[in-house]
Amino acid sequence: MKQKPMVEMEQVSFKYEKEWVVKDVDLSIYEGQFLGLVGPNGSGKSTLIKLMLGLARPDRGSIRLFGEPIKKFDQWEEVGFVSQKANSFNSGFPATVLEVVKSGLVSRMGAFSFFKRKHKEKALEALKTVEMEEFAGSNIGELSGGQQQRVFIARALVSDPSLVILDEPTVGVDAKHVTAFYDLLGKLNKEQGITLLMVTHDIGTITNHATHVVCMNKSIHFHGASEDYKEFDDDDLNELYGHSVHQLTHNHSHDEVNRS
Ligand code: ADP
Repeated sequence: MKQKPMVEMEQVSFKYEKEWVVKDVDLSIYEGQFLGLVGPNGSGKSTLIKLMLGLARPDRGSIRLFGEPIKKFDQWEEVGFVSQKANSFNSGFPATVLEVVKSGLVSRMGAFSFFKRKHKEKALEALKTVEMEEFAGSNIGELSGGQQQRVFIARALVSDPSLVILDEPTVGVDAKHVTAFYDLLGKLNKEQGITLLMVTHDIGTITNHATHVVCMNKSIHFHGASEDYKEFDDDDLNELYGHSVHQLTHNHSHDEVNRS
């Protein structure tokens, strides 16, 4: 059975000024996938996410979310986002963990929503998922980078999204907590069925956790199962970055992800 596409990008190109930053990107993300997005610094990963979140408009091409053209899409509670800078609150920031998580609902559903009395309940539930409920009353700035990151994941989860996008979430999380962080993402993906897209530099670790890997440098150079990516040696990878994904499909069968 064909899975449901959550994100469909077709021939998407984008430039801030004169130079293309994202070029001819065809990318579909299907329900249930855990997709790692990797590529060198400045290769357009964050911009691709901005395009998916409707924060930037493509100069060319089309984007659909949950089957709807992005311009018409209005179910933003279905999409959670954890940004790169999320875990850098300093100790002076005057918000409790519970307030930070609740703000995920307020920003999406309006501060005067009918459901406001449920906000606390939902926020506590999300904190429980990330095993941070005991910190609900703590000041966000007092927590470690790894703990803050969990709180921001709870903030992204509070509206029960089916897709969560994370931009380099392990930056600022110390190495000994990174494994636990990946375990949490694995649990969200496998047990709760949440589709994940995660930008990371950590290609070694992501291939052990994600179901699929996308390598980009303006355009997409590889999109396939993590298992297939792991098979590449250094020579293969050098060659890979010089070819387009369409030329690679004869070697790798990723039926559910390749459009051609
Ligand atoms: P990555 O996330 O892969 O590091 P980005 O999407 O952040 O890449 O950036 C891609 C390119 O776009 C870089 O050359 C960057 O300098 C440029 N860029 C990013 N944001 C802006 C902006 N707001 N205005 C102009 N150029 C930008």
